[in-house]
Amino acid sequence: MLPSACGTRVSLILANARILPMDPAMTEIERGWIALDGDRIAALGTGNPPAGKALDMAGDLLMPGMVNPHCHMPMTLFRGLAEDVDDRLFRYILPLERALVTAEVVEIGARLAALEMIRGGVTTVADMYYFEDRIGAVLDASGLRGVVGQTLADFAAPDHGSMDEGFARLDALADLYRDHPRITASAAPHAPYSTGLAVMERVAHWSAAHPGLPVQMHLAETRAELDWAEKTHGVTTVEVTDRAGLLTPTLVAAHVMYPTEADMDLIAARGAHVAHNARSNGKAGRGIAPVTALRARGVKVGLATDGAMSGNTLDLFSQMAPAAMFQKIAGGSRRPLPCAEVLRMATIEAAATLGMADRTGSLEPGKQADLIRISLSDPRLHPIYDLSSTLVFAALPCDVRATMVAGRWLMRDRMVETLEPEKVLADALQVARRFRAKIEEIDKQADRGQTDG
Ligand SMILES: [Zn+2]
Repeated sequence: MLPSACGTRVSLILANARILPMDPAMTEIERGWIALDGDRIAALGTGNPPAGKALDMAGDLLMPGMVNPHCHMPMTLFRGLAEDVDDRLFRYILPLERALVTAEVVEIGARLAALEMIRGGVTTVADMYYFEDRIGAVLDASGLRGVVGQTLADFAAPDHGSMDEGFARLDALADLYRDHPRITASAAPHAPYSTGLAVMERVAHWSAAHPGLPVQMHLAETRAELDWAEKTHGVTTVEVTDRAGLLTPTLVAAHVMYPTEADMDLIAARGAHVAHNARSNGKAGRGIAPVTALRARGVKVGLATDGAMSGNTLDLFSQMAPAAMFQKIAGGSRRPLPCAEVLRMATIEAAATLGMADRTGSLEPGKQADLIRISLSDPRLHPIYDLSSTLVFAALPCDVRATMVAGRWLMRDRMVETLEPEKVLADALQVARRFRAKIEEIDKQADRGQTDG
């Protein structure tokens, strides 16, 4: 450790960088430095750095690592499967999950996801799936920051046979990560229609007993869900969630496609948050989530990827442009959701949805050193009139040169240092072979059914 000019302890200085700290004023530093103290940011400034061990960033951009508040990491293994089949969830995905998704498969899919995220500049992810202890292990080993959410649902789950077993797994997860510096446990009731009021109330009790741990849930995702709420409870699905006591500042609600005006007022009044998955929503033909209307009410909305089965990629560069375009299409104008706001939704605002804005999502003294180095050298990015526009509409995940979480490089010069990329891909291909055989079996059975019928 070296004492710096400004009196704080400094372990490393990243110098000669263009910096977008993502502070409230959206300051841009043309040429500056960031001093690190172990896992934290000690200071940052313009011009020449203070004395100390410095790394030359060669004019590359340093910005906060991106935060993805809604993902199903192991579903990388389903990427591109039955892309244009409307009933693919029931025809393929659920049978494949029941038959073949084991703890080992979850780990293989999560490793593929971690590799993709590190290469794409994501440093924090909130996951909801099964065997989340294994996903936590992958996040831990790969050096990422994350929220691991135990899914609770009425349908047959790969990792629990009853709701009591599901809650036992949730308790174990909370114990396992109680004091972990980068991994946070979370309850993840699948959706109001797939858990029901009683289970949602049980989650609300659990949540009250575990302050600081986020709750993740799909909400108002499909029109069928609205019908369920109306028929079963005579209210909207958002109101059912509120009745269960789940609409709180710890909730990260994914999608929120079809809220009424009153629903949006309620979400804002309760301080609940939203994860917006533009590509996933668009590909499913579901429409455009009312992101502008939610944010106008003060609701924090983070950009998310959803699983790779739904949104195909796990980087947020792929999400920023569609998220902006959807709001412009809905608003019939260029003005809605300006580029700087989109960038905030991929970083600091997404961190806020997870209750982590005090730790990550912006480059400020005292916060964790979660950052990415982006090369701006590609012709595709020039000229740069507006850095936010460049990043939202022209930059790609391959422009990310280096990724750091908690002061540790996970990737340098595009080489991931915490995973074995070749083994990760080979393992995933083996699982895909098993999936393909099962798909052929399902198709044969369906053909036979048609012939018999
Ligand atoms: Zn989802």
